[in-house]
Amino acid sequence: MKIKAKLTLGVGLLFALIILLAFVSIQQVYTLAQDTKNILTANYNSLEHSRNMLDALEKIISKEEDMNLFEAHLIEQEQNITEVGEAEMTQSLRLHFNQFKTNLGDSVVVKKIRAEVNDLMKVNLEAIQRKSAVAENTANNAEFWIGLIGAFCFLIAFTLLFNLPANIADPVKELTESITQIAAGDYTQRVHFKSSSEFGELADSFNVMAKKLEAFNASSLAKLITEKRRIDTLINKMHDPVIGLDEDKKVLFANEEALKITGLKPEEVIGKSALELSVNNDLIRSLMQDVIADKKESPSVSQPPMKIYADGKESYFEKEVLDISVTPTGEKTPRHIGHVILLRNVTAYKELDSAKSNFIATISHEFKTPISSIKMSLQLLENGRIGAVNEEQKNLLHSIHEDAERLLKITGELLDMAQVETGNIQLTVLSSDAKEIISQAMEANRNASEQKKIRLELHCPDHLPHVLADSDKTTWVMTNLISNAIRYSYDNSVVQLYVNAFEGHIEFAVKDTGQGIQPQYVHKVFDRYFRVPGTTSEGTGLGLAISKEFIEAQGGKITVESDFGAGSTFKVSLNISL
Ligand code: ADP
Repeated sequence: MKIKAKLTLGVGLLFALIILLAFVSIQQVYTLAQDTKNILTANYNSLEHSRNMLDALEKIISKEEDMNLFEAHLIEQEQNITEVGEAEMTQSLRLHFNQFKTNLGDSVVVKKIRAEVNDLMKVNLEAIQRKSAVAENTANNAEFWIGLIGAFCFLIAFTLLFNLPANIADPVKELTESITQIAAGDYTQRVHFKSSSEFGELADSFNVMAKKLEAFNASSLAKLITEKRRIDTLINKMHDPVIGLDEDKKVLFANEEALKITGLKPEEVIGKSALELSVNNDLIRSLMQDVIADKKESPSVSQPPMKIYADGKESYFEKEVLDISVTPTGEKTPRHIGHVILLRNVTAYKELDSAKSNFIATISHEFKTPISSIKMSLQLLENGRIGAVNEEQKNLLHSIHEDAERLLKITGELLDMAQVETGNIQLTVLSSDAKEIISQAMEANRNASEQKKIRLELHCPDHLPHVLADSDKTTWVMTNLISNAIRYSYDNSVVQLYVNAFEGHIEFAVKDTGQGIQPQYVHKVFDRYFRVPGTTSEGTGLGLAISKEFIEAQGGKITVESDFGAGSTFKVSLNISL
């Protein structure tokens, strides 16, 4: 039976029985009240009149009272005739009372009156007894019917109380438990209550839903597994090593290339923490140091390639650490879920690069001797030692000389760069006089500054501590910075040179009031071959890159500050010689 029908039937029956109980109770109480009233009005009053008549009779006889009192009670009795025979008795009493009124001394009549009043009392007493039995019967009936209907009400209420809550709550509880299990991922859950009620239908629908969910889960799981295998294969087939870590820095996967270069087996890597692996493996330590230190790699900071022994030879790899974050469904902020370490094999590029550096080094070295001999020959021609030259020839010789100078400068820079790239910088770091260094650099730029009518102003205290530097390389750097300041400044301007001692270091500064550098290019001017777009003066874009290498190789620092349109200041700081 349906729950709705059960509820309607149970509660409806209860309601009907309560109404019936109320009706029967009222009816029975009313009947009882009528019975009592009957006794009271019909018989009790007649008894009362009879007793009063007897009293009045006695008082008439003893002359205490006149006839009126008896008469009054008799009239009342005459109006309260209720029982069979009572009317005849009252009429006879009236007759004898009338006789008594005419003859007060008639004791026979008095006797008759007394007997008749007593008969009246007897009749009413009997009636009272009879009616009382009727009332008692009514009460018994009421007791029976009210008890019977009450018992029915109790039975139904009891049945409802014991069955209905469990009937509703139990299936709901079972259903809730099953839904909880399914929500937790156990799609094999089913509900088993068999009932023809609404819960039976609900259970059937629920089981169908669970079955479909199970099938869907199985199909999506299979799909996921296939996709995972595909991705695993893809990662494995990659020619570059790849290592994935979860948010707890435990290795999730490492492809074949990664295992090859680390010399480890999958079971020695997968599931192990980065820290644990780093303890025993130097390569893994240097691969994972950024992950362990929670460093966020900035793309603008390029690191030198790592040298790793792989494929039976030394190979070079560029490391990239990717911070992986996802935004969970329904959330707004991305959550960090791990890292991926990618190693790009750049050995081929590195080999090409070193071939290029060697080639440039060889060429520029080979160029230097012929250019120097061209310069010497030019000097001989200009001096007129091997014959007089006319004015036109002199001008030609002068421009050939300038070109040879420029060629020598370029080959010199290329040679220096090649040395830097092949790691062949030869440094002779000694205690050197900073003022001497800056003065030599100024001297080297004297002609250039005079040509543009640029004044070089030196601000240098008299007693400066010595600087720990390779004086040739540092002079080269300062010459290059002053040369740039002159080249990128307007005619008739001033280039200020400062040398100062600070705590532990000497700082050289070259400040010009030229065109300056646009903010987006400031951090790039130290890159090899970089020239600010639109730069018209001749150059290779190598001077600042070489300067940076020279200064950093000596443990110093080179920086730039530029105000576009107002000028630039390049600063070099080197350690003080103690
Ligand atoms: P270059 O041979 O081109 O001068 P550098 O490495 O010395 O090579 O300089 C790189 C670039 O930086 C230059 O091409 C120029 O655009 C910019 N630069 C260098 N010094 C200055 C300066 N003092 N003022 C403005 N721009 C400069």
